Amino acid sequence: MISLPDAPGTYALLLELHSEAQIRVGRFGSHVFPAGRYVYVGSAMGSRGLAARLARHIREEKRRFWHIDYLIGAMKIVGICVDTSGLRQECLWAQRLATTADCRMIVRGFGASDCSCATHLFLVGSKGYVAWRQLGLRLPGFAIADTDSSN
Ligand SMILES: [Zn+2]
Repeated sequence: MISLPDAPGTYALLLELHSEAQIRVGRFGSHVFPAGRYVYVGSAMGSRGLAARLARHIREEKRRFWHIDYLIGAMKIVGICVDTSGLRQECLWAQRLATTADCRMIVRGFGASDCSCATHLFLVGSKGYVAWRQLGLRLPGFAIADTDSSN
C-alpha cells in the first residue's frame, strides 16, 4: 500500500513503457512512443492535494481528462517524486528536465496547455532518470525505481 501526501504540491511520475507503442493523446492525435522510461511533471494545488490526484493517476479505469490519462494504461507508474512546499514547481521541473542531456520530447505541448513550456513529458535516459530522482522526495512503494542501480 502506498501512502500519499495530503498536502498540495508538485509531482513527477516515472513511467515505464515496455515496448514501442502508438498511443492516441486526445487532440494531439497518435504518436509513436519508444520503449523506455518517461517522466511527467504536474501539480495538484487544490484542497485535496497530491493524495487525490496521485490516487487518480494510479487508478487505471477513469474518464480521460488530462493528457497523461491517455498514457497510463499503456505505461506503468514505477516511481513518484513529490514536493509539498506549497509552491507550484512543475514548470521549473520541466525546465530542469528539458535542459538535461538525454531527455527527449515526444509530443509538443503535452501537459503544458496552461503554460509556456514545450512539454511536461519527457522520454528519459540515465541522466534524465538521475534528474528525476533529484526533483523531490521519492515516495516509497515503487520497487523498480527503488532498486535501480543507475545512479
Ligand atoms: Zn510548464
